[in-house]
Amino acid sequence: MTDCLFCRIVAGEIPATVVYETPATLAFRDISPKAPVHVLVIPKQHHADVAALGAADPALAGEVLASVAAVAEKEGLLEGGFRVVFNTGSAVGQTVFHAHAHVLGGRTYGDL
Ligand code: AMP
Ligand code: ZN
Repeated sequence: MTDCLFCRIVAGEIPATVVYETPATLAFRDISPKAPVHVLVIPKQHHADVAALGAADPALAGEVLASVAAVAEKEGLLEGGFRVVFNTGSAVGQTVFHAHAHVLGGRTYGDL
């Protein structure tokens, strides 16, 4: 059994509120939302972070972005805008080492 939290969500071993799914990706609500809409979009296959994902499988990285777009549309974020964050490395706050996009919307954001 894997000890990767997001692999376990993909396997159905840990519950999640799924908002969108494709054969290669899964999108579910963040358990501790930082915005009115806070969805995580992941590849079902394990890659530690977006750098590893992009290097190993650019097509899958593209599928993650296509799912980000679909989630933004489904959640009504296209008009007001949204922010996409891939924390990469513990130094910038990555805590789950399975690549994931944070899709954040429904409020305003300051400069990066
Ligand atoms: P990061 O800090 O970029 O690695 O983001 C990990 C995110 O996963 C955090 O925003 C957590 O709130 C979220 N998270 C942790 N456990 C769960 C879970 N069981 N279901 C949904 N989101 C989770
Ligand atoms: Zn994983």
